Amino acid sequence: VRHLVLVLGDQLDLDAAAFDGFDPAQDAVWMAEVAEESTHVWSSQPRTALFLAAMRHFAQALQTAGRPLHYRRLDDPDNRGTLAAELAAALPALAPRRVLMTAPGDWRVWQALKAVVAEAGLVLELREDRHFYSTVREFAAHAKGRRTLRLEYFYRELRRRHGVLMRGSGVQAQPIGGQWNFDADNREPFGPDGPGPVPPRSRFEPDATTREVLALVAQRFADHPGALAHFAWPVTREQALLALQQFIEQRLPHFGRTQDAMWPGEPWLYHSHLSAALNLKLISAREVVQAAEAAYHAGQVDIASAEGFIRQILGWREYVRGLYWTQMPGYMSHNALQADQDLPAWYWTGDTDMACLRDALTQTLVHGYAHHIQRLMVTGLFALLLGVRPQQVHAWYLSVYVDAVEWVELPNTLGMSQYADGGLMASKPYVATGRYIERMGGGCAGCRYDPAQRVGERACPFTTLYWDFLGRHEALLARHPRMALQVKNLARLPPTEREAVRQRADAIRQGQVGVAA
Ligand code: FAD
Ligand code: SF4
Repeated sequence: VRHLVLVLGDQLDLDAAAFDGFDPAQDAVWMAEVAEESTHVWSSQPRTALFLAAMRHFAQALQTAGRPLHYRRLDDPDNRGTLAAELAAALPALAPRRVLMTAPGDWRVWQALKAVVAEAGLVLELREDRHFYSTVREFAAHAKGRRTLRLEYFYRELRRRHGVLMRGSGVQAQPIGGQWNFDADNREPFGPDGPGPVPPRSRFEPDATTREVLALVAQRFADHPGALAHFAWPVTREQALLALQQFIEQRLPHFGRTQDAMWPGEPWLYHSHLSAALNLKLISAREVVQAAEAAYHAGQVDIASAEGFIRQILGWREYVRGLYWTQMPGYMSHNALQADQDLPAWYWTGDTDMACLRDALTQTLVHGYAHHIQRLMVTGLFALLLGVRPQQVHAWYLSVYVDAVEWVELPNTLGMSQYADGGLMASKPYVATGRYIERMGGGCAGCRYDPAQRVGERACPFTTLYWDFLGRHEALLARHPRMALQVKNLARLPPTEREAVRQRADAIRQGQVGVAA
């Protein structure tokens, strides 16, 4: 073999840079399904199934394209269980002159593969991941010399550079709609009757290949969390393109206004559900952004929805990737708030009597999906207020979501949600009482707790823990300009009330409150 191209489960793109100059007569592709990728964190069944099903379909696409492939299946009796061991065994057998791959999405995997290739006396060559608009180098250049990093400036830079939703060109270019940000129009809950009939999610019934994977995962990872009965994710590029089209037509028109809203029993709402297809590289960020922009120009969606959606991809997604690769490996161990609690065991089962959490956890385990505000302001907020060790929170998020790949999951969890990086990623800790969840439609009317109460039998645990959080971090938060008002409100509480909050927070931490009967 002249060139051996390594392809990981989140690199399923026939046009990736690693294939530039690929010559089927001399080159070959290497892929491996290994147990370690499902066990280094306790990967949920839907997540493992999605990766394996998409990998097997990609293997078929490679064969159709006539690219020689060395593929190790999970159920192969000789499977060595780790990417490193599989590659170490393959290299002498294939004797490639060069080993190359598209830049991977996970520091741990990169280190492991690099070491194996070095042991074989070769250098692992990385090619730029063209899937992203920006390079890590561009992000580093943007970050250099700035005391704090903020999404907004990086996002504007990318809008200008790539001419996305811009009028005019060069230095004259202005954002369409006259402003960069329509967040003020994008924060509405649904009315009292809920979201009305939400369009059904795009469903892709498992074909024979996927059914085989589902059976394998159910048997091999029977004790792993999550369920497979409702598995309907896109696992091929064609399916992902169809899911994109259906999103643009059916959901994007309502995306902006309701992107922060929740509704009990409605997991999908007006979100795109495209994160897994994007992260596995079944479709590209450009295809998704261009489709949303075209829908705006065709008059199918308003600017607030188009901009609100594009900001998530051209903004947040690019930003967290730059952050991850410029901060790793140190980023993983941050714990700015010195949180030291264990994650409650019911995060893995949904067995809690807090309605909003039960709803978010159940849909997470059933589908491997929750939308952003559930991840940030329900499951994430509770862990932050409780004071859970950030590395445990990280392991949970990396396990349960079908779209979880470390470069995107880690900054969102450690930085945005847990404030463990001390404010590098988020401008302040995202803390709120149960009243926020009530306002956004989280289901308090059907809950045994009352979001307005901070102490007493019916006090909402979020509300109690919010005041307890302010108390525990009072000195730190008082120095933060955007938290000062919240800390001032705390100072108004009489000492007896503060003591009552502390006692109830302790009871919550000891599992005396919140666990399903
Ligand atoms: P939509 O609401 O339709 O948004 C469109 C797209 O924008 C998404 O598909 C996604 O690609 C991108 N996007 C939106 N928000 C973000 C963000 N904050 N960071 C990066 N990209 C974003 N996203 C992941 O892809 N993988 C993860 O493992 C992941 N873990 C998260 C953990 C926590 C604690 C939090 C708060 C957020 C996490 N996110 C993660 C970001 C976001 O919640 C998901 O991308 C989104 O919910 C996926 O659903 P969707 O495709 O319907 O998104
Ligand atoms: Fe969640 Fe509290 Fe509302 Fe119950 S009362 S649904 S625990 S926010």
